[in-house]
Amino acid sequence: MSEEKISESKSRDFLRQIIDEDLKAGRYSGVITRFPPEPNGYLHIGHAKSICINFGIANDYPGGKCHLRLDDSDPAKENYEYVESIKTDVKWLGFDWGKDIFFASDYFERLYEYAEYLIKKQKAYVCSLSEEEIREYRGTVTQPGKHSPYRDRSVEQNLDLFRRMKAGEFRDGEHVLRAKIDMANPNMKMRDPLLYRIRHVEHYRQGNKWCIYPLYDFTHGLSDYIEGITHSICTLEFENNRELYDWILDECDIKEPRPHQYEFARLNVNYNVVSKRKLLELVENKYVNGWDDPRMPTISGMRRRGITPEAIKNFCESVGIAKANSVVDMAQFEFHIRDDLNKKVPRALAVLKPLKVVIENYPQKKEELIEASFYPHDIPLKGSRNLPFSREIYIDRDDFMENPPEGYYRLFPGGEVRLRHAYIIRCEEVIKDESGAITELRCTYDPATKSGEDTSGKKVKGTIHWVSVKHAENVEVRLYDRLFNVEFPESVEDGFNRDSLYITNNAYVEPAVAKSQPESRFQFERLGYFYFDPVEFRNGKIVFNRIVTLRDSWTKTVKQEQPAVKKPEKEPVQKLQEKVEFDISELPQEIRVKFDKYTEQYGIHREEALTIAREDKLSELYEQAIIIYDNPKAIAGFVSTEIAREIKEKSPEKISVRAADLAALVKLIDQGIVSVKIAKEVLASTLKGGGSPAEIVENKGLKQINTSEELTPYIEKVINNNPGNVDAYKSGKTKLFGFFVGQVMKETGGKANPELLNRLLQEKLN
Ligand code: ATP
Ligand code: MG
Repeated sequence: MSEEKISESKSRDFLRQIIDEDLKAGRYSGVITRFPPEPNGYLHIGHAKSICINFGIANDYPGGKCHLRLDDSDPAKENYEYVESIKTDVKWLGFDWGKDIFFASDYFERLYEYAEYLIKKQKAYVCSLSEEEIREYRGTVTQPGKHSPYRDRSVEQNLDLFRRMKAGEFRDGEHVLRAKIDMANPNMKMRDPLLYRIRHVEHYRQGNKWCIYPLYDFTHGLSDYIEGITHSICTLEFENNRELYDWILDECDIKEPRPHQYEFARLNVNYNVVSKRKLLELVENKYVNGWDDPRMPTISGMRRRGITPEAIKNFCESVGIAKANSVVDMAQFEFHIRDDLNKKVPRALAVLKPLKVVIENYPQKKEELIEASFYPHDIPLKGSRNLPFSREIYIDRDDFMENPPEGYYRLFPGGEVRLRHAYIIRCEEVIKDESGAITELRCTYDPATKSGEDTSGKKVKGTIHWVSVKHAENVEVRLYDRLFNVEFPESVEDGFNRDSLYITNNAYVEPAVAKSQPESRFQFERLGYFYFDPVEFRNGKIVFNRIVTLRDSWTKTVKQEQPAVKKPEKEPVQKLQEKVEFDISELPQEIRVKFDKYTEQYGIHREEALTIAREDKLSELYEQAIIIYDNPKAIAGFVSTEIAREIKEKSPEKISVRAADLAALVKLIDQGIVSVKIAKEVLASTLKGGGSPAEIVENKGLKQINTSEELTPYIEKVINNNPGNVDAYKSGKTKLFGFFVGQVMKETGGKANPELLNRLLQEKLN
């Protein structure tokens, strides 16, 4: 953070300045703010900002309070799951609403009374134009609107109609209640805005008690008033609503001291979407594995990834409170994540891409326990563990190069390197298999070089991490990359990063890590910060999520060895998370030839090509399959993931799937008989010995739904079950299309033909 930013965030922001003045002038006796989420999705990083502001302000003033208000007046999309998630997330961030949790839906009765009050004052009327007519009558920014023909209904007529609306005598959309303000007002929000509409939808808390529901503007200010809120802080998009906020309170004869609305800039973060609707789309269309997928910028996702609440709060603080919208760089967030973890978490050893090293002069049976500190010297925390060392260790594949470039400080034939906390080893021999792949290194160690007791006088420049083969625990590690490839995604389809998750099942951790509790965090030296995933642990799996990479693991190690060279610490702006990279020049000749062919001729991804080229069984299967059926890309997808995984778990000989099966499977997809998703399930069955893909598809009835007769009933069901969304869609929220697609897919168990589904849905909805 620049110094300027720091002093800026320490000075009082504009909201606190307003509050200071209000208190000084005696306008209020204390401060009450509220955080008012609608329970229609999980909270995200933007909400975190709003939480920090609202609860932060309340904490700053003596006697200050912040209410948690569930703003639940739109029944279609709200539910208890969301309410619970909101409570969990706010608490986890470290804020406490005490007894002050409220639900706007608890005010429905009082809001209704206020509505009748406005009708009696001739400030509200029942309008019977259709939604579309209302929109037309509203005019445009440059043209005044027209009066509704129902604007001059008498008080009696209005009361009668409104009561009958409430009693359920009318269908959705037949009438609405509108404020009677000014159809020529330059502020469009003031052109007789809607106050109530008819929705025959069950409310998750009120059940079917109501079939008319108040709109946001009517609900919000009155809810603030009912709760005694002093400063109602919201985001900039509500700037134009402020006039209406005041109008409603004034017309309801609410006197000072009463709540007032203030707006600040939304938090946006690049390479992300920060909107519940878009996040819902990611979840429903299965781009991610749920709201708490560690890639998601939701609070639950960040928690699951291992990001600390402090990091989130520090980040929000660093962004400051502004009056103009802007996009904050993800690197700024990552800076705060590291900054917090750096001060707190133990350092440990883990290896993500194991390469076995046999230390030939280390006695066969010998095992040593090295007492190693968990924390570097510059951190005040204390603690250590016993790190087992033995003759066979794993190092990371990336720390060895057969033909290193000048200045390579890690291991190479004839080269020496220090093992972290242990000895200096020297690479004597490289062992390869028939294909030329490196399988093992033979090294020697120097007993006089033990860390902390080194009497050798030797100096080496590199230090690498390692684990003892016999003592290490095999775990799954998940590496995450940014969620989107484009900096400012317009929509979910726009640049979703399909490589945002990288899983390796072949990682090893030292015993202290394996024995730790779920939710533990570590810095795996030189690899990044990691979190023991509690959700997967409950599923019986040990998984470590990479929270964030280290700034630059390599320079760091060099720096430790050479304290004289001090690089300025700078926040990386561009590079967010590097993937496990590989260097093709290091590959043996035969593998490289295959790799080049796959990437250049067949145009398949580098990582897929490498996976296939490296394993004989995979390349054999792959090359045969593409002779049988010519779709090298699709076939590569299955070979490099499902089949590769199977090989790793079993062994190449045990693979039961044949090239012909693979070819047939991809053909089934291309012919539109099964979807990719179903194909994966089919392949899993084939791999378990369940027969050929064609048989499985036939026997289990997995065929894609390709006719409109078959698909239409599913679509109709979804449409009938979601009248609120249908209305919203028809009133212009066309982005809801994705929601419907997701729902129908769910109903059909993923069997709907996507193109057909698209077409039929378009027809039905438009
Ligand atoms: P979304 O656009 O993601 O659906 P929302 O504004 O509809 O968000 P609400 O549940 O209504 O979500 O928001 C609760 C509070 O959080 C509001 O006061 C809103 O202004 C605030 N908020 C929402 N998104 C952001 C953001 N990106 N930055 C700051 N505050 C936000
Ligand atoms: Mg909103």
